[in-house]
Amino acid sequence: MSGTDLHGRVALVTGAPQGIGRATALALARAGADVVVNYLDDAAAAEAMVREMEGSGSRAVAVRGDVRRRDDCEAMFGAGEAFGGVDVLVNNAGIFPRVDFLDLTDDDWNLVQDVNVMGGFRCLQSMARRLVEAGRPGAAVNLASVAFFRNSRRGVHYAASKGAVIGMTRAAASELAPHGIRVNAIAPGIVDTAQPRDGMTEEEIAEASSRVPLGAMAQPAEIADVAVFLCSDAARHVTGQTVQVNGGSNFS
Ligand code: NAD
Repeated sequence: MSGTDLHGRVALVTGAPQGIGRATALALARAGADVVVNYLDDAAAAEAMVREMEGSGSRAVAVRGDVRRRDDCEAMFGAGEAFGGVDVLVNNAGIFPRVDFLDLTDDDWNLVQDVNVMGGFRCLQSMARRLVEAGRPGAAVNLASVAFFRNSRRGVHYAASKGAVIGMTRAAASELAPHGIRVNAIAPGIVDTAQPRDGMTEEEIAEASSRVPLGAMAQPAEIADVAVFLCSDAARHVTGQTVQVNGGSNFS
């Protein structure tokens, strides 16, 4: 197998029914992977994705689960066993409930870390344990954010969570490299999904988009294409990295 062909791979995408997760899960299937489509509450969207993937020749299954629950995460990997075991993970599930720093509560803080950091930790550890025991290689991609590198409006808790994701990526990549398991992150800039609309006005989104050097906010498929690359053998010598996919926003 070479290039970005993912035939024979089994991918799990968390938070898959919409936005970046949806685009990534569909792109992984188009590249040939069988896919476990995790959803939290939108069963209809997840089942429609499964049918679309099956229509294009991939095996797929939708699994309800909350990444805050260890047993739910285990169930997602359990579902992947039917396809031969998950060896590609995209830790996509994430939340960004915007709160002014002076109003942030412990509960606000802990919820965001529980989903964005610990959800990814639980899934990465679960995959790694299974792969190491089986003596198989694998690849994971964690969704970080431009919020760690630049400003994050009403998002101190969110920026901290994405910084933790980047630290986890680097350290886990180091520990898992001897097992042939690669761990990378993608840090998107603003992407055209529901997330920026939770607490930003359309005017604020338009203003942020206008400052992107390449001229627009990203479409989810533009993040998905990089995720497929990082999961594939085309990136076989890439691990511990955070790829910023942001239209050049870090130099504007
Ligand atoms: P989105 O809000 O459209 O989708 C998030 C998905 O995560 C939803 O399907 C939701 O149901 C799921 N989810 C939330 N909590 C969950 C839980 N506890 N268990 C399982 N699933 C859960 O967001 P998006 O824009 O597609 O973002 C995807 C990832 O990319 C997130 O990690 C986000 O922080 C990151 N990101 C997004 C942007 C952006 O501008 N959209 C920028 C940088 C990073």
